[in-house]
Amino acid sequence: MLRIETYDDVIQFSLQRKFLHYLVAQVNAFLVDGLLVDTGPAFLGKEMLSACQKYHLQQIVNTHHHEDHIGNNALLQREFSLPIRAHREALPVIRQPRENLDMSLQRRLLWGQPVMAKARRIGNVLRTPRYLFRVLPTPGHSPDHICLYEEKKGWLFVGDLMVEGHAKLFFPVANQQLLLESLKKVALLTPSVIFCASNGVILDGYRFLQKKIEFWERKLAASSIWEKKEAMELNYAQEHNKRRTISL
Ligand SMILES: [Zn+2]
Repeated sequence: MLRIETYDDVIQFSLQRKFLHYLVAQVNAFLVDGLLVDTGPAFLGKEMLSACQKYHLQQIVNTHHHEDHIGNNALLQREFSLPIRAHREALPVIRQPRENLDMSLQRRLLWGQPVMAKARRIGNVLRTPRYLFRVLPTPGHSPDHICLYEEKKGWLFVGDLMVEGHAKLFFPVANQQLLLESLKKVALLTPSVIFCASNGVILDGYRFLQKKIEFWERKLAASSIWEKKEAMELNYAQEHNKRRTISL
C-alpha cells in the first residue's frame, strides 16, 4: 500500500506492508523539486511507479544501501532515465545487490530483492532547480548513511538516522557511538523540519533530535556502567580463584 501526503514543496510517499490488515512494516520516501530521496522497497514497485508517474522526477539520492531504500532504483531509473547518487560505500550494493546485499529470508520476504542499477558517488552539495542541499555523512545506522540539509528552508532529510518501529528489529544500529555523534552533528544545524523514513514529517525537528540524543547518551552511559561492572566482577572472580589456589 502507498499513501501520499504533502508538506510545503515536499511529497511524502508512505510505503506500507500489511499482513491480515495489520501494518508489519513502513518506510517513507520523499520527493522535493524533482529529487527523490530513496525509492522504497521492491515489493511496492508497482505502487511506487504509478505514484511517481504523476510527478516530474529528475534525480534520485539513496540515503544508504538498505533494501527498503534502494528497492525501486532500477525500475524508476529505467522508466524515467534518472541519475542515482549515494555515498561511495553504498555503490557496490546499489550496483550489484544480489551479490553484495546480505539479506535474511525475513527481510527478503518483507521487502523483496532490489535489482542492479547504475549509480555514482554523491558530492558535498546537491542542486535542484530551486534548492541547494548539503550532503552530510552520518554513519551509525549504517556506515554509508547520509543526510541532506537545505539551509534556507531548514529542512533535514534524515533517512534512517532516527529509525523507529519495525525497522529497528530488522536493521540494528551498526555503531551506536557513531550514531550519537551523527545526531549531534546534524543537531548543530538546528533544523526546523525533519523528513524521516520512519516518522514522516517532524515539524519540531530540533527538539525531536535533542530527545534522540538524550536517549542515546543515556543508553550508552548505561552500557558503559554495565561493562565496567562486568569487568570488576570478572576481576574479582579471578582474584578469588587465585586466593583459593594459594590456600590449597
Ligand atoms: Zn536502514
